[in-house]
Amino acid sequence: MEFSQLQSTTAICPSLFNATTAQDGILSRIRLPAGLITSTQCEVLVQVVNQFGNGEIQITNRANLQIRTSRALPEEVLLDFQDYGLASSAESTDGLRNMMASPSAGIDTHAKINIIPLVKAWNFYLLQHPELAILSNKFSICFDGGEAIRVSDRPNDICLVAVEINGEIYFDLHLGLGDRGDSPALVGVLIPHNQVLEVLAALAEVYRQYTQQQLEQKIHLRSRPPRLRDLLHDWGVKKYLELVAEKLGYTLKPSPLAPLPLRERGTRAFEVYEHLGIHAQKQSGLFYIGVVIPLGRLTSRQLQGLAKLAKQYGGGALRLTPWQNLLITDIAEADLEQVTQEILNLGLYISAHHPYAAIAACSGYKGCKSAFTDTQADAKAIASHLEKCIQLDYPINLHVSGCDKSCAQHHVSDIAIVGQASATYKVYVGDGEINFGRELYAEYAADELPQLMERLINIYQNQRQNPDQSFREFVNQCNLQELREVISHA
Ligand code: SF4
Repeated sequence: MEFSQLQSTTAICPSLFNATTAQDGILSRIRLPAGLITSTQCEVLVQVVNQFGNGEIQITNRANLQIRTSRALPEEVLLDFQDYGLASSAESTDGLRNMMASPSAGIDTHAKINIIPLVKAWNFYLLQHPELAILSNKFSICFDGGEAIRVSDRPNDICLVAVEINGEIYFDLHLGLGDRGDSPALVGVLIPHNQVLEVLAALAEVYRQYTQQQLEQKIHLRSRPPRLRDLLHDWGVKKYLELVAEKLGYTLKPSPLAPLPLRERGTRAFEVYEHLGIHAQKQSGLFYIGVVIPLGRLTSRQLQGLAKLAKQYGGGALRLTPWQNLLITDIAEADLEQVTQEILNLGLYISAHHPYAAIAACSGYKGCKSAFTDTQADAKAIASHLEKCIQLDYPINLHVSGCDKSCAQHHVSDIAIVGQASATYKVYVGDGEINFGRELYAEYAADELPQLMERLINIYQNQRQNPDQSFREFVNQCNLQELREVISHA
């Protein structure tokens, strides 16, 4: 077999067959449907990273993996990846395997349906339809089975959310109508669970026809095909869904659910740290452990160790999360203590109260041309400092971004730290009129951030109304000018 586009460096979104050049090496992304990776796949990856890479594996905020190598991966490695299911067997559609699911799919007591078979079926559909390869590599689909560990608010082009109506399971269709980083919005269509694949196929086919037109008319370049949201802005949801219904040959069922964001429809609030630590599974006597991966980066030794634990004590696979952590599942109660100790021995953590559980950072200037700052180094400095001087007694989430494009998920953070052209950071806290929160400082030097975070967290822990008041609740009621004064005297 010959690969047609081995390791081109022009892709805007790296994949295995279209890796991109970053400041710190050639970046390849391994797309894992639903974030699932078996222990055997981990072993294959570890060997490649040790031989060609920098010894490190990064979990992305779409629950995929990235590796950096000093040179293009040779063809035999890509063939091995295909053999082991780490790459699509159809090179052209590898970049489209952008499928998100709750990491607790199939093991979560709250789930209405196990969506893993649907993810696998859609992955198989893509393999059979190479004509879809012209779609944007960012085309992303999310399956949410109603798990407590929810992913439906994550930015995606299409999101299917399981709902139960009169004892039957349907999927509520959501589309990514908003700006970059926004959650997909409900569009008033209900899909019976046995029609999900055909509706998805029709949604993708109409999008493909739009893409084809745009490319032929040279409105978009082949290297940057239109996003689904371009189609939605051009045509509107109504026309898109009418064309989808035409293709299906039947009318789409209207949803009786109010077109409100999920959080306003009585859906239980979800905090991103809830997947960390030890949790009982739906399967009696089995547990999963949510492992904190500092800044989403694992050494090959750590990945090898986790894969070994999953094989020896668990279900033989790891589940990556969009919060750049992972789960080891199917552990018997009697083994929990041993597995926990071995995770700690690998230099990792399981507590949501650990400072590294609190901090996420985008790739920063070493991995992204848009970055103004070295987010990874700055986030690491904050975490190392907090580790020495703070005992977090209530989880906090803190996101560090190299620019204001919000790849580090600012819309859900308690504290957002955003790089700007002057190589300093803006600091935001709590909820605000913009996604980042309320601006606490317009310009803050990177090397002073660790002390600022220490002071801010200490003030919260000493002055909150009660131990159950979250950081966000605390700062939302603070007068920011007064808070600045307290910080300056702390
Ligand atoms: S937030 Fe900005 S700097 Fe960070 S990865 Fe995204 S685009 Fe790059």
